[in-house]
Parts: sequence; structure tokens; C-alpha cells
Amino acid sequence: MPEFGFSEAQEMLRREAERFCQKEVITGAKERDRKEEIPRELVRKMGENGLLGLNVPERYGGQPADWISVSVVVEELGKGDPLIALIPLFPILFSIALKDCSEEVRQEWLPALVKGEKIACFSLTEPDCGSDAGSLKTRAIRKGDYYIFNGEKTSITFGMMADVALVFAKTDPSAPRGRGVSCFLVPLDLPGITRSKFADMGLKAAGRASLIMDDVKVPAKYLVSEEGKGFKMAMEHMDFLRVGVSLAPLALAETALNEAMNYARQRTAFGKPIAKFEGISYKLAEAATLIETGKLLCYHAFWMMDQHMPNTKEVAMCKWWCPWVAAKVVHDCLLIFGHIGYSEEFAMERRLRDVIGFEMADGTADIMKLIIA
Ligand SMILES: Cc1cc2nc3c(=O)[nH]c(=O)nc-3n(C[C@H](O)[C@H](O)[C@H](O)COP(=O)(O)OP(=O)(O)OC[C@H]3O[C@@H](n4cnc5c(N)ncnc54)[C@H](O)[C@@H]3O)c2cc1C
Repeated sequence: MPEFGFSEAQEMLRREAERFCQKEVITGAKERDRKEEIPRELVRKMGENGLLGLNVPERYGGQPADWISVSVVVEELGKGDPLIALIPLFPILFSIALKDCSEEVRQEWLPALVKGEKIACFSLTEPDCGSDAGSLKTRAIRKGDYYIFNGEKTSITFGMMADVALVFAKTDPSAPRGRGVSCFLVPLDLPGITRSKFADMGLKAAGRASLIMDDVKVPAKYLVSEEGKGFKMAMEHMDFLRVGVSLAPLALAETALNEAMNYARQRTAFGKPIAKFEGISYKLAEAATLIETGKLLCYHAFWMMDQHMPNTKEVAMCKWWCPWVAAKVVHDCLLIFGHIGYSEEFAMERRLRDVIGFEMADGTADIMKLIIA
């Protein structure tokens, strides 16, 4: 049976992530949104504070951690900024993806990701296929010791600032849809790569971008899956990303709820605090309940990973439910603040813009429901 509480080590980590969030993450959120970038210094500080090495082997600078510990960090950082909460997931992703690469390749990238010196991104979506990722067209054709990449990846979170990407490409163009796809590590300073940024409504600091690859020569040592087994690798080992992408906006919604509760106690209308009106207090009660259900889904999904249990269905449940809850709760909280909630002076409007992005990132609700069904 699972225990509904954190171990001492998890609680210490939670406090450390909470402290970091209050000192380093919350303060700069407005500025990051305005400047549309994440300062590299912030990512380096995350590394210095041990927030980027969870679940990465110690020989690359990481530390052993269970998945519940990872979720604790994502949740605490997400309370300040759900985008920043995603950053610790990338060293884990690369550590898993590079498992069968040479030690040289792992040493080249993993310590730098754990220290926050390098930033990574995940590149699957293309202009002609998002949900239907099996129809991807980017090609990686082997020529001697290299693969030659041609194609375009799009909608890539951290695409403008990342130093390295995991890229899915067709190594066997004659294979039918969904087959012949391999996964590669691609350093983003290789000749032939250009980037183009989206002008987004929210998550502006993400630098969501298209990566255009024109005859890019990628050394064969950077093939990280078996040739043709890219999707198998993604399906078997990358589900954890979806839980993180679910929990991060939910955590932000909890911050919004706490602020809305305080505001509702102070703001008066018709001679009493608005919290005394059931139209407000029921909304707050519903929001608290919705958030709790989402958290339970996420922690359960991560707990299942710790038990090595298959959890594709539970992960899909997290991914449609939590961003939906987050968007609903933040929207309701914004309305509780009345007209000032609509102003850029306060965080609510930015939060609403930000959480909506999570409804699409890493798969839409429609696709998650198909998986569950
Ligand atoms: C903020 C943000 C960050 C992102 N970050 C990344 C990233 O880092 N890396 C990356 O590779 N991608 C990323 N994406 C892309 C994301 O994964 C895709 O947007 C998503 O998979 C949907 O693909 P699409 O946008 O092409 O929509 P489409 O696949 O074209 O779908 C359009 C609509 O049709 C619906 N639909 C499609 N098929 C079905 C079906 N069978 N049944 C019912 N409805 C269906 C969809 O739910 C959607 O509402 C990001 C997206 C956003 C918004």
C-alpha cells in the first residue's frame, strides 16, 4: 500500500526546492515573461543547488532519487513557475536516453546538463504532424560515420536557448507510418540548423521554436535508440515527462488558489468579505478539490514508476486532467480578483496564459483520452 506522506529525505528536498523557488524563481517570473527568456544564470543556480541531478547516476554529478522525489521538486518549483519546473526533467530524460550510448557521449553531455551549463530540449513535433507523430517526415540518412538530417521540428520548448536536442527522425524512409523512426542527440550548434521563434500568448520565456535542419551532419555516435526503435524507446521510458508536464501547472494553480482565498477574505462587497458568499466559497472549495484529485493522480503515477508498474493509462489521465484543472482553477481565481486580476500588474493573467500551453504540450486531452479508452 502507498503511504500518503513524504519520507524525511523527500521532505528535506521539498523544503530545499521550496526555498529555491521563493528566492530565485518567483521573483523573476514577471521579468522572464516580459523579456521572453530564462537567464542561464538561473539554470546554473538550479544545478548548483542540486535540483538538476535527481535520478541521474552519481558518476555524472547526479544523485539517486525515486520518482516521488522528482515530483516533489517539480511541484515546489511549479508553484512559482511551471516552465522552470520542467528544467529538472531534461537531465533525467537525457540520462535515460543516452543509456546505450558510449561513455564518451554520456560524459560529454550529462555532467553539463546536471550543472545547468547546458540546456536541452525534446524535438518530436513537426509542422505537418503533432498528435500523429508517427507521420513525421524529418529524415536522417546514414552516410559513413554520420547521419544527414533534413526536415523541420516545430513547437519545441526551450528551442531558442537549448544547446542540445533529442530529435526523432526517420532513418528508413521506406518504412510505413510509425516505423523506421530513430532517436538522436543533436548538438544545436551544428552547421545547417536554424531556429525560428514563435510569438506565444504564454510561457513566453520558453522560447518555443522551430528547428530547421538542412543537410545537418550528425555523428553516428549520437544515435541514442536502436535504429528504427525510436518510438519504442519513447513509449517505454519517457512517460515520466508527461507526469511532470501535468504536475507543474497544477502546482501553479495551487498558488493561484491560495492567493484567491486570501483575497476573498479581505475584499468586501455588500458589507462583508466576498469569501462569505457561497458563489465565491464554493468556487474555492471546488478548486481545492480539483487540485487535490490532480495531485493524487500525479503522485500515484510517479509512485507506480517507483514500483516498476506499467502506468501508461494513469499517465494519460494525469496529462488530460491536470492542465485542464489548472486552467479552470486559474481562470476562476482571476475572476475572484475582479478587474485587478485582469491587469498585467498582477500574476493571474500571466498564470492563465501559461497554464493553457500545458493543455497541448506533450499531447492534447483528446489524444490522452484515446490512450485511456
Ligand atoms: C506550449 C507548448 C509546448 C510544446 N512543447 C513541445 C516540445 O517541447 N517538443 C515537441 O516535440 N512538441 C511540443 N509541443 C507540441 C505538442 O506536443 C503538440 O502541439 C501536440 O502534440 C498537438 O499537436 P498539434 O498541435 O500539431 O495538433 P494536431 O495534432 O494538429 O491536432 C489539432 C487538434 O485536433 C485534435 N485531434 C488530433 N487527432 C485527434 C484524434 N485522433 N481524436 C480527437 N482529436 C484529435 C487535437 O487534440 C487538437 O485539438 C508543444 C506545444 C505547446 C502548445
